[in-house]
Amino acid sequence: MHDHRKLGRELELFDTDPLIGSGLPYWLPAGAAVRHALEQYLRELERQAGYQHVYSPVLGKRELYEISGHWSHYRDVMYPPMELGGEAVVLRPSLCPHHALIYRSRGRSYRELPLRLAELGGQYRAELSGVLGGLTRVRAMQLNDAHVFCTPDQVAAEADAALAMIRQAYAALGIEPARYRLSLPGAGGKYVGSPRIWERAAAMLAGVLAGAGLAYETGEGEAAFYGPKIDVQVADCAEREATLSTVQIDFYQPEQFGLHYIGADGARHRPVMVHRSILGSMERVVAHLIERHGGAFPDWLAPEQLVVLPVTDALVPSAASITGRAAALGLRARLAGPELGTLGSRIRSARLVPYQAVIGEKESAAGQVAVRLRDGRRLPPLPADAALAGIAAHVAGRRAGLWDAAA
Ligand SMILES: [Zn+2]
Repeated sequence: MHDHRKLGRELELFDTDPLIGSGLPYWLPAGAAVRHALEQYLRELERQAGYQHVYSPVLGKRELYEISGHWSHYRDVMYPPMELGGEAVVLRPSLCPHHALIYRSRGRSYRELPLRLAELGGQYRAELSGVLGGLTRVRAMQLNDAHVFCTPDQVAAEADAALAMIRQAYAALGIEPARYRLSLPGAGGKYVGSPRIWERAAAMLAGVLAGAGLAYETGEGEAAFYGPKIDVQVADCAEREATLSTVQIDFYQPEQFGLHYIGADGARHRPVMVHRSILGSMERVVAHLIERHGGAFPDWLAPEQLVVLPVTDALVPSAASITGRAAALGLRARLAGPELGTLGSRIRSARLVPYQAVIGEKESAAGQVAVRLRDGRRLPPLPADAALAGIAAHVAGRRAGLWDAAA
């Protein structure tokens, strides 16, 4: 595998500047195109699965994190508070407390549950500068996060559905887990809540993994401070493992925030929070995709999906028309004319672009294109609009392979 830090800069996906600071990468246009495609995919996937999206501020009062437990259990990786008009405000280390307050903003009935709140939102970690690099160790990240507020009876089904979404997204992205891990508490006093509740939550998650037929290992000491979790581990180019996706069961924060719903019996009940992330942070997943695919992203994610290559200057207008029609279909298409070099060199420099449409005299006269695939396959000349429609349909289907008119 490739090192995403090196390849990410070569492909002009992201970079850093000492004046912004270490661990604070910025996204260049090509990287931003990949991220935007991912964000759009996640929002659609979540909407189809019954999630509702919210936005919440990246800051909160210190008191909010004292209630959630982050301040006492997580403070060493939190930014120091900012004093503002007599109040202490911190950059948030997680989105959970904000979502708990959104749940609490009005009364809730059992009829509304499960209530699934999702957000692609910023969170912050005060990592030491020595460990920062690329997109994997950062001080600011955009998290694909969600919290499902549900009854105890609904927890297993919600965790199961979240795990199924993770597997669906991995198939679309062409990535594979290194392993599934059931993360449990270890020795030491950093865990909150009673052992009985931990055992119950861990048993639910073990049941979800077993029900999905997935082999897993247990990780002692890898749980969140508030509950056990399923972690989906991926390996980087140096075979180091990291958690990309997670499903967590939390009985603690609903208690801390005094959350409740009115049950069918008319009485107040405590909901459970299922925390889940399908693709972790945008930073971590893009780092993994760069390494996994060596920059040759699935077509629906590629910064450029189609490059149009007129053989001669005289064919540039015809190529420009095809590029414009591709863009109108929503494709990220670029015209690469003879001023950029020979046809061979233009094909080589577009080697990571999934589709290359070569326009020669014969094709232009017949209103056709000869499509070359990134993997070296060549398709027979096709009517230009049929080729563009075929590519656009494959891209819309978000699959890991390439479109092949013959298939
Ligand atoms: Zn959470």
